[in-house]
Amino acid sequence: MSNLIFCDSFIDGEFYKTNEHFSVNDPATQQSIIEVSDIDEQGVNSAITAAKGAFVKLKNTNATERSETLMRWYELVIKHKQTLAELMTKEQGKPLKESLGEIDYGAGFIKWFAEEAKRSYGDVIPPTDNNHRLTSFKQPVGVVAGITPWNFPVAMVTRKVAPAYAAGCSFILKPSEHTPLCAIALAYLADQAGFVKGAFNVLVSQDAKTVGKMLTNSHIVRKFTFTGSTGVGSQLLKQCADTVKRTSMELGGNAPFIIFDNADLDDAIDGLMAAKFRNSGQACVAANRIFIQRSILDEVLSKITPKVASLKVANGFEEDVDIGPLIYPKAKEKVQQLVQDALDKGADLIGDNSSLGGSFQNPLIVTNVTTEMDIYHEEVFGPVLTVIPFDEEAEVLSLANDVPYGLAAYFYSQNLKQVYRISEGLEFGMIGVNEGVISNPVAPFGGVKQSGLGREGGHQGLNEYLEEKYVCIKI
Ligand code: ADP
Repeated sequence: MSNLIFCDSFIDGEFYKTNEHFSVNDPATQQSIIEVSDIDEQGVNSAITAAKGAFVKLKNTNATERSETLMRWYELVIKHKQTLAELMTKEQGKPLKESLGEIDYGAGFIKWFAEEAKRSYGDVIPPTDNNHRLTSFKQPVGVVAGITPWNFPVAMVTRKVAPAYAAGCSFILKPSEHTPLCAIALAYLADQAGFVKGAFNVLVSQDAKTVGKMLTNSHIVRKFTFTGSTGVGSQLLKQCADTVKRTSMELGGNAPFIIFDNADLDDAIDGLMAAKFRNSGQACVAANRIFIQRSILDEVLSKITPKVASLKVANGFEEDVDIGPLIYPKAKEKVQQLVQDALDKGADLIGDNSSLGGSFQNPLIVTNVTTEMDIYHEEVFGPVLTVIPFDEEAEVLSLANDVPYGLAAYFYSQNLKQVYRISEGLEFGMIGVNEGVISNPVAPFGGVKQSGLGREGGHQGLNEYLEEKYVCIKI
């Protein structure tokens, strides 16, 4: 299928084989795509040593060189867009059109940080006495380690590795055991683009806990960046405390999507379809709690029901598919449990919940959801739209904020004063106003509360990999 399919870890610019293997499965068929080498302890240590050596070499590069290397990487990723997208659909399951979109989006981070590499400006500070000259400038943090999830196997990698390289940091990545193939292909292409050897290492492992411990315990690793669930992120933060590492955490969300009675309903429904069903609902920014003002509830439901019913659920390689399989059968079981709990507690179901085979889940609408139900509090991570009616603006703002998470939130309103009030009142890191798809390499992505620390993308994304050094000179 692909000339970019590799089965080993990638360390110091070379593939690294081991004797232990595990299968990477196609979520649509649950058949093995390939057996990959499972990294051993020696491999993890080699990657740390390689990254340490690469950091020394990176110190002798300048921002323009790193920018040009990143641009070559960007061009290679775009050149191999179709192959990478097919690889992604194969190991992750998402519809091919979405995989193609993710390659553009993921490559966008490389291009953006190739440009930002040249702009890590410092400051000249007005001194407080005539004998002093005060400056501050930016330097790379050093060796970075990162762990990424399976839901966006390219974009979650490029939004970390590209700013790290732009800043002059070397990187050790442990991608999800479910989607390591895209990560290895990206590292191979980065090497072809001329990355300093050892500046981008990929450790393929099904023992995330052990590899995570080795990376967080290492004194050489100076920064740790993670995207995944809040539970694992909080554990990794504890592990990073012993060596006082810099950290960035992109964790879980529980995004509210509010439709006010003055909204353009057709627009709102289009936005909701995108915010809910992209990647079969498997995104931390996916709309999770859909609040609809009671006076428009029936109209919204009558408009959205046929749209949800017409979504095509199939293998991501099929023509016109909208919903691919969930990542693995357990993910579908979790969705089913959340739906059943809601129905047991009085919610109503619209849609066909008869079992499809394997990890395929029909899209559903669950109405009359209340705060007693698990589906209100947990990320569904599946194609299930949960509807909660509300009456007043103050009530919905309080409900929307009353969760421990604060990643993305969306609302539809045509009332300018309300747009300001709600944008300012929502306790979330990212807000979509009359828009259901907001992720963009040029803008800061990240959460508040238990949704994380730090920002990826935007000019802020580079700072996550830079230290600020203050220099006071007496003359
Ligand atoms: P998900 O449930 O969406 O897979 P996780 O947070 O479990 O989210 O996984 C995200 C990433 O974290 C994956 O690469 C996974 O291998 C890794 N991971 C899971 N558990 C641990 C752990 N205890 N220590 C380090 N990494 C982990």
